[in-house]
Amino acid sequence: MPAARVTQSTIEAIREALPELRLLTDEIDRESYRSDEAAYLRSQLPMAVALPETADQVAAIVRLAAEHRTPIVPRGAGTGLSGASGGMENAITVAFTRMNRILEIDKANLVAVVQPGVINADLKAAVAKEGLFYPPDPASFEICSIGGNIGTNAGGLCCVKYGVTRDSVLGLEVVLADGSVIRTGGRNVKDVAGYALTHLFIGSQGTLGLVTEATLRLRPAPPPKATLLAFIDETDGAGDAVERITAAGLLPCTLELMDRVTIRAVNETFHLELPDAAALLLIESDLPGAAAEAELDAASAAAEAAGSTEQVRATNAMEADGLRQARRLALRAIEKLGATRMEDVGAPRSKLVELLDSIQRVVAEHGLNCGTFGHAGDGNLHPTFWWERGDWRPRLV
Ligand SMILES: Cc1cc2nc3c(=O)[nH]c(=O)nc-3n(C[C@H](O)[C@H](O)[C@H](O)COP(=O)(O)OP(=O)(O)OC[C@H]3O[C@@H](n4cnc5c(N)ncnc54)[C@H](O)[C@@H]3O)c2cc1C
Repeated sequence: MPAARVTQSTIEAIREALPELRLLTDEIDRESYRSDEAAYLRSQLPMAVALPETADQVAAIVRLAAEHRTPIVPRGAGTGLSGASGGMENAITVAFTRMNRILEIDKANLVAVVQPGVINADLKAAVAKEGLFYPPDPASFEICSIGGNIGTNAGGLCCVKYGVTRDSVLGLEVVLADGSVIRTGGRNVKDVAGYALTHLFIGSQGTLGLVTEATLRLRPAPPPKATLLAFIDETDGAGDAVERITAAGLLPCTLELMDRVTIRAVNETFHLELPDAAALLLIESDLPGAAAEAELDAASAAAEAAGSTEQVRATNAMEADGLRQARRLALRAIEKLGATRMEDVGAPRSKLVELLDSIQRVVAEHGLNCGTFGHAGDGNLHPTFWWERGDWRPRLV
């Protein structure tokens, strides 16, 4: 049977089995589920979009889709940058937007149990009210979901100290491809025997199953951050500074980089007046009291040794928030210059200088426009290419 007719019969079967389920089939409704944030990829309109509210509904949808051999695309908030939550014609997108409840904040065990559609920032705010902290903070944390963070094993600004999403997930409830439901992990901090199934699902982009509940690890809220900006005259000096900070045994909670192109774009967009340096490092410490200033002093010395001639410290929390926010929105600032493609490159921290050199060489050799920013403390940079809108360059795709 042709794929379109198969999918149609799946839709009918789902409607019959789950009359209360919100199932979008109008073209105009489905359009917003066509793509994620990877705008440079060609995308397809999903045949239908299901918006389940319970794990039972998810299991029933998956079981019926399996019976009818219809593919499924799980989707969180659609902020992914790889096209993975974009639609496929003849497939059903299962969007977790309505499964957005924080089920429990368990202070005794430092654990939160959440549905996958919870927005990262909402979870952070809810646990902060209890004096607790959920570390993973992708730059998109105000708009992305926990399910998507698990699907991508999202990193973020404070991952240099607290680890990526994987390091904060203790257990999962997952609907497998045949509609069966399994639970992995749990609330135990020591949970070491047997296969690490929880970790297998994290970062699997929904290919192994649909996460319907997550048990997450919390920490006591750290003290407010002290913030330092180190401006550096040579781009690869920023890589050198990161190596020196790491080798000095420092563990700042933020160690982010923006190059000159990014600094200019961010200045323009957010009306900041950051100096026009080759690169800047945003370095933060959340150690208690004087220890934070001492950590920044040591980081400052390491940056100076790597060629930083100008440095400033945020004088208050609002100023620090503004600088962090400017870094978080670096991609949006570059997007104002044209159509973009953001790359995601990871390297050992001791190779950051080489990585920055290589990016500069490729950009110069091919006459490209590129701004580079990212989680330098993790050795993770985002060279972001842009070109005039409408000027499609297939060689970048
Ligand atoms: C401005 C901006 C800044 C960003 N900064 C960062 C950053 O610092 N670090 C970073 O890692 N990423 C970053 N991203 C990328 C993106 O926000 C993250 O990858 C985020 O984790 C995606 O979450 P989402 O809810 O939007 O997921 P989606 O894009 O909807 O989905 C992402 C993947 O997860 C799968 N998925 C979603 N929900 C489930 C589920 N319940 N079960 C199984 N699989 C599921 C999807 O199928 C897809 O494969 C950024 C994006 C933007 C636009």
